[in-house]
Amino acid sequence: MTALVEWDDVTKVFGSGHVQVDALSHVSLQALRGELVAVMGPSGSGKSTMLSVAGGLDRPTSGRVVVDGEDLSTMGAAELALVRRRRVGYVFQQLNLIDGLTAEENISLPLELDGMSGRRARSAARTTLALVEMRDLAGRFPEELSGGEQQRVAIARAVVGDRALLLADEPTGALDSSTGEAVLRLLRAQCDRGACVILVTHDARLAGWADRVVFLRDGRIVDQTGPRSGPEVLLREPARR
Ligand code: ADP
Ligand code: MG
Repeated sequence: MTALVEWDDVTKVFGSGHVQVDALSHVSLQALRGELVAVMGPSGSGKSTMLSVAGGLDRPTSGRVVVDGEDLSTMGAAELALVRRRRVGYVFQQLNLIDGLTAEENISLPLELDGMSGRRARSAARTTLALVEMRDLAGRFPEELSGGEQQRVAIARAVVGDRALLLADEPTGALDSSTGEAVLRLLRAQCDRGACVILVTHDARLAGWADRVVFLRDGRIVDQTGPRSGPEVLLREPARR
């Protein structure tokens, strides 16, 4: 089994001196192709930092991150930008949709910038919007969409183009539970075509879709469930606060 993403003894320190924070300390984890790994932990435990170093948005203070066989720590900014555009799909807590572009254009523009023809890019955008039940709203601008609809556009943008690594940081936050489940079904389907999904969530029911659940506290992995043993264990906990 090949690891699609590997955190190898990763430490990330923010700030310096008295205000220094170890967002991650000595985190080692591998996630495989086809695997959905959920990351849970209290606020400030390092979950978002784990994603940002894997997505090449931030560099570890020490240790390495390897994505699809390539060590990000040896890459320059331009190379890193290419990995981000071509291999990694990212759903942020803040959605980062472009206001001046329609839902469809928010998805097709990055594909076009990456060299795809306009026709193919628009067709890929529409297909992916259909997967999140947003086909009829493809021509709307972000401000004409509800929070949940905007979130579905952001998710469609992350999964379009068959990216190998999908990083989702509480992607279902603004969604009702049935749409949340639909999003998880979509992420799960991406795993089944060989992608690797890392999902940060607070919701134990959503973590139940994962093959493995990793628990972070104070920047360290303190526990993890075995492959596919997560759901039964987690579903015994109260599902919501
Ligand atoms: P989580 O996503 O689990 O809530 P984060 O990864 O966002 O946690 O943050 C982990 C720790 O690192 C927190 O203490 C947070 O305040 C700190 N941190 C995160 N990003 C920065 C930053 N850019 N500058 C300074 N501290 C940061
Ligand atoms: Mg976070």
